[in-house]
Amino acid sequence: MSQAQCTRCGQTVDISQTTYSKQGTMICDRCSRDLTVQRGDRNIRASALGRPGAILGMLLLSLIFDPFLIVSILAFGGAVEAYVSLDNASYRQVLGDRRIRQLRATVIALGVLAALRLIWAVVSIARLMLS
Ligand SMILES: [Zn+2]
Repeated sequence: MSQAQCTRCGQTVDISQTTYSKQGTMICDRCSRDLTVQRGDRNIRASALGRPGAILGMLLLSLIFDPFLIVSILAFGGAVEAYVSLDNASYRQVLGDRRIRQLRATVIALGVLAALRLIWAVVSIARLMLS
């Protein structure tokens, strides 16, 4: 039975229970699991924080390019979807309640903007058709 030392936590472990990190260093099973969890947390954070930016981008785009209101509808749908996904337990765990509240407020504001944009567009179209 050969032993090896984990390059992350320094623990001596059986070589059959080691894996290689992305950097190619030998790490134990426990560290490997820790790193996987950290990567998952990073992904959750990136997706939660990236969403409002994506919705804002769609809203700005809809002002110059919005065939059949598709971009506005996508922005509104994105805001609703982002709002719903913030209820996810793993999001709350990773981001914390305060961050979730801020994100929720941001997403609601963006959703209202998208809704106003849609209403304004529909009213303008109706006006054109009636005149
Ligand atoms: Zn380790």
